[in-house]
Amino acid sequence: MGKDEKTLYDIYKKKEQKYATSKGEKDPKKDRELMGGFTAKIPLWVMRLKDPDVTISTKQKYVIAAKNMYVQYVRVRARSPEFVTPPLTKAADELLKAICKSEAEMIGMLRLQEPGGARIDIRKILEKPKNQKRLNHESTTAIIRDAINAVDSAADCLPILYIADTGKKFHREDCPYCKGRYLATASLEMIRLQNLTPCKCLAPIWKNDGIDRTCVTAFIDESLHNITWNETGRVERSGNYSYILSWGKLANESELLPEATITKGIGYTEEQKHTEQITETAIGKVLFMLAFDYDYMGAVRIYTDNLGAAQHWESIAKYKRFANLFTSVEVIHIPREKNTRADKMCRDRMLLNISRADFDRTVKQRERVIDLQQKLERIKAEQNDRLQLANFIGN
Ligand SMILES: [Zn+2]
Repeated sequence: MGKDEKTLYDIYKKKEQKYATSKGEKDPKKDRELMGGFTAKIPLWVMRLKDPDVTISTKQKYVIAAKNMYVQYVRVRARSPEFVTPPLTKAADELLKAICKSEAEMIGMLRLQEPGGARIDIRKILEKPKNQKRLNHESTTAIIRDAINAVDSAADCLPILYIADTGKKFHREDCPYCKGRYLATASLEMIRLQNLTPCKCLAPIWKNDGIDRTCVTAFIDESLHNITWNETGRVERSGNYSYILSWGKLANESELLPEATITKGIGYTEEQKHTEQITETAIGKVLFMLAFDYDYMGAVRIYTDNLGAAQHWESIAKYKRFANLFTSVEVIHIPREKNTRADKMCRDRMLLNISRADFDRTVKQRERVIDLQQKLERIKAEQNDRLQLANFIGN
């Protein structure tokens, strides 16, 4: 058995064990008939799959039909094991092996066609829960192809990435650390699936300063307050978020160092009700900035004290797409008391939430007050002078 064949067989066998617990309605008469049908049909499908003269597209259809039959057999076997005969068990196993062999052949072709295809981790792709469901009635090559192409539209604007035959890093084409090695192009999704990390050659500004630029940690916070005035001049609620971005995989905010800080900032959202949505906007903003302002594509870790956002942000397709631009993105929920720095930025911002026009007017008024005070001082001084003069003359 080839490597892919073996992997597929393992995956299908593991999946089979789940059916053993979901038995469904039992109808002995019907199940006996079904088993008779399998005994007759399964060997035929084994022969079809082993036929070397069929075209690829026909073979693909055979594989899907054979998989459907195999799944049905496994289900009936789970609820009525008493009707299974040793020859049927043997034939069914042969069928599964023939399915795996055919699919492995097709995966082999896919590996040749795809850049960096030899390194695709098919187990990782096929064992994802959403793909497990597809395994019963779709070809594995279609599932693998979808996984590879998942981010192509979003990744269009990124530079082409490269991987060597071995190693845990991905590179740019002219990587100085890879001189003399053959580098093949690789899609970002493929890099992500293999947990590769960016080589030093990809860090936007790599200095030999001991700062880990293979990971970015972000602390974000949101706030929602009643404010007495805003841009529209009305009393309203206002949503803000703040973010602190730092190089390195930080465990908490006390590890934030000025020299490793990438940027800090505050943002304003239209959202006036839900803190979860403000936080999700902040997550999107952080990912967007890292990808497009900093050309960063390594690992990202985001801390937020908003539990809802930490749990749901991935359901927003736009942010999920942004996340696919990186080797990994994790959003971690932390208690508010461990997010004091981002929180303080948000609070500070609330005091400054004045429109430019209002701010300018305030400054002008203040200048006028100072001007008047100075005039008043001068008048008082003059009066004082006059008084002294009068006293002097009077004396
Ligand atoms: Zn490199």
